[in-house]
Amino acid sequence: MLISAQRVLLEDAPELAEGWVEVAEEQILDIGRGEPPRAPDLVVDGVLVPGYVDAHCHGGGGASFVTEDPEVVRVATAAHRRLGTTSIVASLVTGAYSDLHRQVACLAGLVEAGELAGIHLEGPWLAERYKGAHPPQLLTDPEPAAVAALLATGRGTVKMATIAPERAGAMESIGLMVDAGCLAAVGHTAATYEIAVAAIDAGARGATHLFNAMPPLLHRLPGPVLALWQDERVIVELVMDGVHVRPELVAWVMGTAPGRVAMVTDAMAAAAAGDGDYILGELAVEVRDGVARLAGQDTIAGSTLTLDKAVRNAVAAGVGLVPALRAASTVPADYLGLDSVGRLAPGKRADLLVLDDALKVTKVMWRGAWQEWVA
Ligand SMILES: [Zn+2]
Repeated sequence: MLISAQRVLLEDAPELAEGWVEVAEEQILDIGRGEPPRAPDLVVDGVLVPGYVDAHCHGGGGASFVTEDPEVVRVATAAHRRLGTTSIVASLVTGAYSDLHRQVACLAGLVEAGELAGIHLEGPWLAERYKGAHPPQLLTDPEPAAVAALLATGRGTVKMATIAPERAGAMESIGLMVDAGCLAAVGHTAATYEIAVAAIDAGARGATHLFNAMPPLLHRLPGPVLALWQDERVIVELVMDGVHVRPELVAWVMGTAPGRVAMVTDAMAAAAAGDGDYILGELAVEVRDGVARLAGQDTIAGSTLTLDKAVRNAVAAGVGLVPALRAASTVPADYLGLDSVGRLAPGKRADLLVLDDALKVTKVMWRGAWQEWVA
């Protein structure tokens, strides 16, 4: 199938340009700029972009990834997919090791089947002081043998783990994660600037929702924020929902760290579902006016964001369209080492989106097949 459009996000192009994409079965066969080589099968009236990649997501459509039921997982992935997220990493939250092993075992099968892009362990190796929506009694030090055991249960599908590098055993565990192909992301941490620098030197390459659940950047105590922001080797996650971080700050970070911001949703079950009462891991969460908080508290408990909205929010905050689109596709794919997705290029998976002028997703192709539920 040959698809052409006046505005295509082609690789390494600074602007959207006229171009075409040829799809065969589940893959992109070829791409090109300008006029297509023959009459196209479909002329897209809109912007043609790669499917979005969410590196940090706890659920959506009323369903949570903290489950041992594959059908529940599928409800959440379908809810995000119809809004353009064709690759999704399932983020777990802090739980008892016995529960985490069972949850990882369930999700690993779905990663191996191609329904999920990977698993993210957000906890239990987090700082109590910056626990966010994680149960404090289950937080623990990243004891290397326990870390290795959980990664082994994942059989290579655990692509990322959030770690507070000031906890005992953290530096050794970061090395162990790197060796296992699991990205170590600094987050939910009380680390000083110096400890965060040491964690990066030990192999950490990510920042779990920069600014949230870590000490703020102060002029004499720049903390982990500056250490992660300034290091060219680190990709920083930002939750662009207008609640977690001021949009002006997101735009500023994206301008000062070009190509190093991955927009993530950190979404919980209420994303693409609506207000109500939910459970995140073991904790009760109230969603009111689209903002998720621990029941009866001010603490933010994930978001109700979807990546299509994150892109629109970024553009509304003054971020260029191309950098915003890349921050929701190419950057998170590279962040997690997902070689087959994140860009329109020969050999990549045929995950394509058509966006209208308001950047709403009007068509989704996943693995070479147009998804029927999108009008
Ligand atoms: Zn999270």
